[in-house]
Amino acid sequence: MTRFRYFPTFPEGARFDARACAFCGATPALDGVWLEVDEDYDDPPPVCIEDLLRDRARVAIPARTQQDLADHVATSHPEWDDQRKAAYVAARTAELAHTPPVPWLQENEWPVCADDYACFHGELTRERLEQRSAGPREAQAVLGRIFQDLRPAWQLNAESLDAWWQRLGGFVRIYAFRCPNGEETYVLQTM
Ligand SMILES: [Zn+2]
Repeated sequence: MTRFRYFPTFPEGARFDARACAFCGATPALDGVWLEVDEDYDDPPPVCIEDLLRDRARVAIPARTQQDLADHVATSHPEWDDQRKAAYVAARTAELAHTPPVPWLQENEWPVCADDYACFHGELTRERLEQRSAGPREAQAVLGRIFQDLRPAWQLNAESLDAWWQRLGGFVRIYAFRCPNGEETYVLQTM
């Protein structure tokens, strides 16, 4: 399998379609929901990795995500001229657009660290939280701290935390990313 810098755990964490690639008939094929394709289809077509790499399909990278990287690069490399900064952002963005998509619940919210896009390390599931904790109670407490960090306005108590815990992986998803310095960063989305 091809290795992707921004998705090092691939194929784990990616969403595949039960059907074959709409372009070449190869399997496995990625679920096309998060992809842009040139041709018109009623349903998002499944696309294999090779066709994603060949630019027959690509991930839409929102303008604000690209701007976020441009801002970080301007801070990290003040000595670079504008042309070099723009070329760097364009190259990284093109690579991210040809990386298998994250199965987002909402819009693409790819985070940026230092002077690069962060690397996706899969969803933070109940199972993953439990593996990292001494027991279910502690796993819920870890989830509570992540919520507090990401959504400080949320009023959490034992009951609501338990409800969120039950919805984790369903109506609520936490996407884990890693920065080059090893720091983990999360994106929370709800349906
Ligand atoms: Zn294909």
